[in-house]
Amino acid sequence: MTEVLTPSGTLPQERRLVTELPGPRSRELMARRTAAVSSAVGGTLPVFVEKAGGGVLVDVDGNSLIDMGSGIAVVSVGNAAPAVVEAVSEQVAAFTHTCFMVAPYEGYVAVCEELNRLTPGGHEKRSALFNSGAEAVENAVKVARVATGRSAVVVFDHAYHGRTNLTMALTAKAMPYKWGFGPFAPEVYRVPMSYPFRDGLDGAEAARRALGVVESQIGAANVAAVLVEPIQGEGGFVVPALGFLPALAQWCAASGALFVADEVQTGFCRTGSWFAGEHEGLVPDLVTTAKGIAGGLPLAGVTGRAELMDAVHAGGLGGTYGGNPVACAAALGTIRTMRELDLSAAARAIEATMLPRLRSLQERHPEIGDVRGRGAMLAVELVKPGTLEPDAALTGAVARACHARGVLVLTAGTWGNVLRFLPPLVIGQDLLSEALDVLDEAFATETAASRRS
Ligand SMILES: *Cc1c(COP(=O)(O)O)cnc(C)c1O
Repeated sequence: MTEVLTPSGTLPQERRLVTELPGPRSRELMARRTAAVSSAVGGTLPVFVEKAGGGVLVDVDGNSLIDMGSGIAVVSVGNAAPAVVEAVSEQVAAFTHTCFMVAPYEGYVAVCEELNRLTPGGHEKRSALFNSGAEAVENAVKVARVATGRSAVVVFDHAYHGRTNLTMALTAKAMPYKWGFGPFAPEVYRVPMSYPFRDGLDGAEAARRALGVVESQIGAANVAAVLVEPIQGEGGFVVPALGFLPALAQWCAASGALFVADEVQTGFCRTGSWFAGEHEGLVPDLVTTAKGIAGGLPLAGVTGRAELMDAVHAGGLGGTYGGNPVACAAALGTIRTMRELDLSAAARAIEATMLPRLRSLQERHPEIGDVRGRGAMLAVELVKPGTLEPDAALTGAVARACHARGVLVLTAGTWGNVLRFLPPLVIGQDLLSEALDVLDEAFATETAASRRS
């Protein structure tokens, strides 16, 4: 068995259950949680974590679980990655906060330099840093509105852009993200996404459908930005048909609207390249980043053409904590690790292991309507066999069966019928293979149970 070295010791890379799940200490903590934490805050796993690294989470009862979620695509470099811990420790001992707008420091500038280098396109760029993905998306909209002098923002079915007021308006799914929380920000327009499994359209056809709605219901001259996830995240890992995204980008260029890629979930090696848009050679006007950027510390960015990012009046962008020095140190450690370990290649290797296994699972289970994704961002969509009718109940049952066997998987999708896999990019092949064995077992037992009921 392999072990990974974390700064607090070695961590065996194994799935090992020593109690029932949840164990006694997790149950105690769950009771405290119920008494202290708002029940509105969601929960996936019934166990509490004590330490984590490589591809495992170890709970407070000593159970070791395989992590196929990475804290929602965040710890792509692995939990407590050595370069991240070292950079953070040094920074935290030097100083923890000054506010970059008050007294600047090098780390913020260095992260912006990296973002300007790594995001697609050789043009002159500028960046600004924030705390969360939602905040980055809000700021991209602010930049787009000032730079174009227009107000309309085009978003897509199944989109997820966050939970603040503006980003709730941009997000598609009502329950749980928007339900009862309105009224929402105006001048947000939703158009059909390319969803090959469900619409059967090629990229050009899907783009014509979406842009037809834009032209007739908004008018090209009023559009500040077309905002899209290159592969949709919470919406169910929907991969648009090839040609869809380039057609949107071309339309934007011709119409004076900005093409904004929300790479919060897809960015930083997750899909097998630094950014998912590279797959089709996209060069967005603005790119939003967060999640995988800083190895678990809260950091987000907006990067774009210098003339757009500099169009906003001085003092127009910022915030108390945005680009906090500790988070910037973590990002620099993360990016260094991604380069040194070539984690884009690791993501492609994960795809090479997982896709054939997921396709073989699909051959044996007609409940799997679609297998899709790219790199280490893969999913299966569950339906009633032979139809497009979503099967959320089976999806939940399979996820719980995996959890009970010590494998953390996440669900997603407008109808809650997608199982998604986001392993840390440093996960070992043995562990990955074992997680797939467990998924296989979970499908066997749960599809049999659902056919009986
Ligand atoms: C998670 C996510 C967000 C929101 O990020 P937070 O850090 O949770 O605010 C925005 N866009 C996409 C594509 C995401 O996956």
